Amino acid sequence: MKRVFNFSAGPAILPEDVLKDAANEMLDYQNSGMSVMEMSHRSKMYQQIIDEAESDLRKLLDIPENYKVLFLQGGGTMQFSMVPMNLMKNGVADYIITGAWAEKAAEEAKKYLKVNEIASSKDKMFSYIPDLSNLKISEDADYVFMCDNNTIYGTKFHELPDTKGKVLVSDASSCFLSEPIDVSKYGLIFAGAQKNVGPAGTVIVIIREDLISKEIDPKTPILLRYDIHAENGSMYNTPPTYGIYLCGKVFKWLLNLGGLKAIEQINIKKANILYDYLDQSKMFYGTVDKKSRSLMNVCFKSTSEELDNQFLKESKAAGFENLKGHRSIGGMRASIYNAMPTEGVQALVDFMQDFEKRNEG
Ligand SMILES: *Cc1c(COP(=O)(O)O)cnc(C)c1O
Repeated sequence: MKRVFNFSAGPAILPEDVLKDAANEMLDYQNSGMSVMEMSHRSKMYQQIIDEAESDLRKLLDIPENYKVLFLQGGGTMQFSMVPMNLMKNGVADYIITGAWAEKAAEEAKKYLKVNEIASSKDKMFSYIPDLSNLKISEDADYVFMCDNNTIYGTKFHELPDTKGKVLVSDASSCFLSEPIDVSKYGLIFAGAQKNVGPAGTVIVIIREDLISKEIDPKTPILLRYDIHAENGSMYNTPPTYGIYLCGKVFKWLLNLGGLKAIEQINIKKANILYDYLDQSKMFYGTVDKKSRSLMNVCFKSTSEELDNQFLKESKAAGFENLKGHRSIGGMRASIYNAMPTEGVQALVDFMQDFEKRNEG
């Protein structure tokens, strides 16, 4: 068996220990004689799995009592619909446009309410986080939407926008659990699991209880109502049982590492190995504003498209997978989520150095 260094933006690398552990339990989970996939979600055993996942996540993020944790389906994209459908009161929301995901979220929200795009970095292909010092927050905004880490471009908010008391909603799909955050600053945080915490098919929503309303359009599909999911402990219908189980294992893996402060230190060290190299290379360069750099998705290019393609071909042959940048911007992108070992990043930099030497001049 040979595992590659997988730099995919998502679905993405998971901790090898978690995968091994899950493999060991595949056929017979804790003497139940069945796999978690085959188990009733109403069984005592499964209830314990989901309860433990929630309590470990609460520990990791220090989630206040007045927030609910929901494990849902439909990926990050379904939240683009659920957020406006469930949070609208005045029918107005502010969106900060920092990339394709924020744009998609805003487009979807326009079906339900008036969307004000209060800041954007589209003018420079989303290569920076816009100035947040003087945002024109709408007086009647039901919420302010941001996409914390912009997976495609490799930018990240390093401070939160001042929402002037309005509810902050964050799409944290690609930086979830990569660093400590203060949950109480947000009204709602959501994250599709497949970037940093588990398999595709599960999305995690952390929502302040007072935002869970029953007074929403009664035509709202039942599965798109936060109140229904909250009342039923994410089990109104069958939840993504196996996905939640794996997320739970990743939460334990993080707790064992020392929690989010510890993983943040590792992530900073890891990202710096790559950024430091890019900053002194004569062939490769990072494509985003230095102050806006992501710790999770590192986007870079070389001096020509031809060389990019040669690099992609040779790196793949050498066991570095999924380094191709998103089709909308080209170049390269190394997604170095929590589960990417430091050795993986170091091996990539060694390869890049060697490639640069072989192709200079
Ligand atoms: C991947 C991604 C999404 C979309 O997730 P799906 O699960 O495919 O719907 C949304 N937002 C961000 C920031 C992402 O990285």
